[in-house]
Amino acid sequence: MRPFILTISLLLMGPWALGQDPISLTLRPISECVIALREAGETNTIYAIRTQKGIVVIDAGLSCETMREIRKRVAAHFKTERFAYLILTHEHTDHYLGDRAFQDVPIISHTNAPALMRSDLNEAGVKGFQARLHAFIAGQRAKLDALPKDSPESVRVRSSLASGERELRGFSPEQLAIPANLTFTDRLSLDMGDLTLNLIFFGRAQSQSDIFIHVPEERMLFTGDVFFDRVWLPFLTREKVLDVPRGIQVLHELLDGDRPPHLVLPAHGEDAWDRGKLALWRDYIVKAWEGAKRARQEGLGLDAFLAGFPLDPSITYVTRQGISEQKLQDFHRTTLTRYWKQVELGAEALPGTR
Ligand SMILES: [Zn+2]
Repeated sequence: MRPFILTISLLLMGPWALGQDPISLTLRPISECVIALREAGETNTIYAIRTQKGIVVIDAGLSCETMREIRKRVAAHFKTERFAYLILTHEHTDHYLGDRAFQDVPIISHTNAPALMRSDLNEAGVKGFQARLHAFIAGQRAKLDALPKDSPESVRVRSSLASGERELRGFSPEQLAIPANLTFTDRLSLDMGDLTLNLIFFGRAQSQSDIFIHVPEERMLFTGDVFFDRVWLPFLTREKVLDVPRGIQVLHELLDGDRPPHLVLPAHGEDAWDRGKLALWRDYIVKAWEGAKRARQEGLGLDAFLAGFPLDPSITYVTRQGISEQKLQDFHRTTLTRYWKQVELGAEALPGTR
């Protein structure tokens, strides 16, 4: 599954890959102390937060070379070389493969992540990545040869080829990613002087180590790869075992707390949500989960449950932003099916108790 994510990220390279620079970065200020960076042609968004106790970076992309460039850009923007932490939102390769660029600072993740990272980075795992990247690069080279020189398509393919080559070099010993070395189970609060970073385990949903980072003073919430409504829909059910009650509890706490987020920032793309949209999806999750529990209590079979639980109109807005009706129906059906099965598994235990 994790190698699959690497491939997807390469395939999603968009038409904005037009930079001349071998590593072309865009830097977007979100507030005075928070910036978002992205490599041309990649969807991954890296965030950097300036605090009194140093800069905190969220996620580490796909390549060490890119992250070294990002580090330089962040340091130049904030006019300081002082980095305090790198935080990984979850254990998927597209979020940590470049983390060696921050090997001098603590690398934080949920406690479930390091073992999964280690299993990706063992000898067989690395060989697998290398083989896939070699095949990808060969494919891009063949494509490039067949294209008219300097056509927009050839510029795009060249950029994607350069990214693939950087990612391949990232599997050399001096660039190879390192597992996170500071972990937590439930939550971790970092007092950064002027800002507080509350790291909260969302529970297993789209990975085994999904965490949110809440910065109450900035009214910002970083949600990794859980919430999207353009290109993708929320990844709520990718894992075999889910911690739905845990996720609901976390969303209630954030949305109904003293300083709820005004900006909800995903780890891909630029589509920040406001509090209202996160609340809408929280309500969808609650309804689906409660519905699944009720169906089980009433002894309803899966087909009867699905038939009696049509798509919630509150989320049909996504069809106006490029998600097909079919994709939305599939998403709803999958969510209900997985929740219904999850109730049967009785997986209501909160993390830390298992
Ligand atoms: Zn991702």
